[in-house]
Amino acid sequence: MEQELRELYQQVILDHNKSPRNFRLIEHPTNHAEGYNPLCGDNITVYLSINDKGIIEDISFQGSGCAISKASASLMTSMLKGKTVAEAENIFNKFHSLVTDKLGDTPDIEDLGKLAVFAGVREFPVRVKCASLAWHTMMNALHNKNEKVVTE
Ligand code: ZN
Repeated sequence: MEQELRELYQQVILDHNKSPRNFRLIEHPTNHAEGYNPLCGDNITVYLSINDKGIIEDISFQGSGCAISKASASLMTSMLKGKTVAEAENIFNKFHSLVTDKLGDTPDIEDLGKLAVFAGVREFPVRVKCASLAWHTMMNALHNKNEKVVTE
């Protein structure tokens, strides 16, 4: 990873780990799901409040986990608030290829904003599950699947 991106990556992770955005309960969510990453011990619940126009009016998360899982959830919730369900799915797909594409591939980071720093986790395969846990959990919540996401 380039030095500059590496520093930005660390900055963003530290910042969102220290003061995670939308780290709270939604009292009456329209959708929610739980996720668990046994490799690292990350636990997360994602709450969504989706209106009848299909817009994510509110999104939040709770749980405990490593800095990467928390930062990823924090950035995800900041990014998806106000988006439509279709937009959220599109961003999920982009984020998913960002963290799982081969090293050396140039990721499509359009629309990803600060999430682009997560390209860095491709260098650490074990961390990919930490970074994507919140996202898989969010997708399950969107589709109101009740089974718990386990990243294996
Ligand atoms: Zn983790």
